Amino acid sequence: MTRNEMVRRARAREQRRRIVRARRIVFSVIVAIILIPLVYSCYSHFKMKKLKQDISSLEKQLKDSETNQKSLQEQLEQIEKELKKKESQLKKQAEATTDHPEKPNVYLTFDDGPSQNTDHILDTLKEYNVRATFFCLAREGEENTARYQRIVQEGHTLAMHSYSHIYSTIYANLDAFKEDVNKISDFLYDAAGVRPEFYRFPGGSSNTVSEVPMSKCIQYVNKKGITYFDWNAQNDDATGKTYTPSQLTSRAMRSVKAAGENVVLLMHDEKTKTATAESLPELIRRLKSADYDILPITTRTQPVQHVKFNPAG
Ligand SMILES: [Zn+2]
Repeated sequence: MTRNEMVRRARAREQRRRIVRARRIVFSVIVAIILIPLVYSCYSHFKMKKLKQDISSLEKQLKDSETNQKSLQEQLEQIEKELKKKESQLKKQAEATTDHPEKPNVYLTFDDGPSQNTDHILDTLKEYNVRATFFCLAREGEENTARYQRIVQEGHTLAMHSYSHIYSTIYANLDAFKEDVNKISDFLYDAAGVRPEFYRFPGGSSNTVSEVPMSKCIQYVNKKGITYFDWNAQNDDATGKTYTPSQLTSRAMRSVKAAGENVVLLMHDEKTKTATAESLPELIRRLKSADYDILPITTRTQPVQHVKFNPAG
């Protein structure tokens, strides 16, 4: 091979290499031209999808917060409603227990319950927005437990009138009396969750059947911080005679008017005293129209006591 021939071949090789290189560059450019928009479009698509997801999640959050706001609003309205109801109950209760100094007071008191007549009496008291005092005995059973609780819940005074009401047992000796007082106190506390503060002696503080001097019994309740109440008016529902409801009301009114400005009216709510329960609406109407404050016994009430405690006795 001549020298010229070698040069020519080398040039030809060089020429082919250049052509190959040029082809590669052209190919790469074409690939780039095709791929870049493709990649970009994929990226945009992905980005768009992500944005859409974000928007829908935000929309969902917004919707949830709107729902929450609505439910909060509803709760708030409910609370406001209950508050208003409570306010009106308290106002009603305050009206029923407000003592007007210029008016005479009458305290309706019911002994020997509870019974089904207590339900009837409580319904009437509720209807007329009047509070009373119940000197109760220990009566078992769910219905009676509900009655003790209702007395307290509706703003009346739950008071004690002995556990057994059997005079010969209660007044047999001082220990028996003490035991009976403590038993009824615990019984009412267990039933209604309130420790009673007021007591009415079976037969009154002036009874003549007690084997124990009543001064000892009085001393005991006083020492326990219990205030006892007798009565200075009655509707005669426990005299052994049978009266109609309207006769009971007339007798009660006559007795109340004779008693003065601070009247504790004795009535009964045991199961045989249906006429007393039936007489109550008319009695309340007549007391109201005679301008009496009808009140429950509280610590502010001036006690009516037949026998006062005599420290020397
Ligand atoms: Zn009694």
